[in-house]
Amino acid sequence: MDVGFIGLGHMGRPMALNLLKAGHRVTVYNRTRAKTQELASNGAQVAETIADACHGDALVTMLSDDAAVEGVVFGEEGALSALGRKAIHISMSTISVALSDRLADEHQESGRGYVSAPVFGRPEAAAAAKLFVIAAGADQMLARCQPLFDAIGQATFVVGARPSEANLVKLTGNFLIASMLESLGEAFALVRKSGIDPDRFLNILTSSLFSAPAYRTYGAIIAEGQDPVGGFKMSLALKDMRLALAAADARIVPMPVASLIRDHFVEAVAGGNGDADWSGLGRLAARRAGIEAATPSRNA
Ligand code: NAP
Repeated sequence: MDVGFIGLGHMGRPMALNLLKAGHRVTVYNRTRAKTQELASNGAQVAETIADACHGDALVTMLSDDAAVEGVVFGEEGALSALGRKAIHISMSTISVALSDRLADEHQESGRGYVSAPVFGRPEAAAAAKLFVIAAGADQMLARCQPLFDAIGQATFVVGARPSEANLVKLTGNFLIASMLESLGEAFALVRKSGIDPDRFLNILTSSLFSAPAYRTYGAIIAEGQDPVGGFKMSLALKDMRLALAAADARIVPMPVASLIRDHFVEAVAGGNGDADWSGLGRLAARRAGIEAATPSRNA
């Protein structure tokens, strides 16, 4: 397919590379142009403007947040007016349910296609084309997008016909991961301060009741006190907690745990750690317990 791709951050860069590897013709645009160089040397066309990336069969956007998507789509000479009549905009950023509904309405009014397809998986999974694509939209549009989903992910899950349903599922999933990070951080703080080897604790958990990939990946990061570079930023995690709470608020659903975790991300960002990986919730829990994250205290 002929695909435009806007947003070459930690996720967008490897995703666009995988589209090229799968044989698609890819035209990339990024606000910071220097990030397009690697893509160009792998065969991508580089667009000078947002509009220049919108002339293909599909346009993928993989941008930080609502403001970035609004600017790219609705801004002057933005994507919506530049998209061809038969083109589909595939919104893969983690954005609000409300903005996804607005995008669906405005694309429909202007006769352009729109599907929502946020993803689960960190940049390493994006590089390995192992993302999980959570898709929603009209069946025939999703069918046209499937070759692109296959190029970047290991599986696609269709939620329904209304695009924003995919955004709700994605935000709810991130709420669950963040809840796990918070509880892992608290659990490791207790285990460490009790003098138990965190690696042994992790091995017991992940070999018995908690053998899921999320516990294995993040359990190891927290047990070893790692601070991964280039993963998922605290500032974006804060954005997702706010968006999950906004969706809950609109539906009158109390989510006290989400509120607590949102405040812990606020604490992290306020403390100058907005660019640190969100697994840093583990370090915050350790600090609250009066211990260093990666140093087991056997005498406490
Ligand atoms: P990132 O590394 O911060 O990249 C953000 C991208 O958005 C960059 O290309 C950036 O351009 C662009 N951007 C930001 N503000 C913009 C604006 N106002 N106008 C135009 N472009 C703008 O973020 P990421 O980690 O790739 O995440 C991208 C999306 O995927 C987010 O919605 C995130 O929540 C979601 N996500 C992330 C992960 C993860 O593990 N990282 C996993 C799943 C989903 P510049 O290069 O010019 O800054």
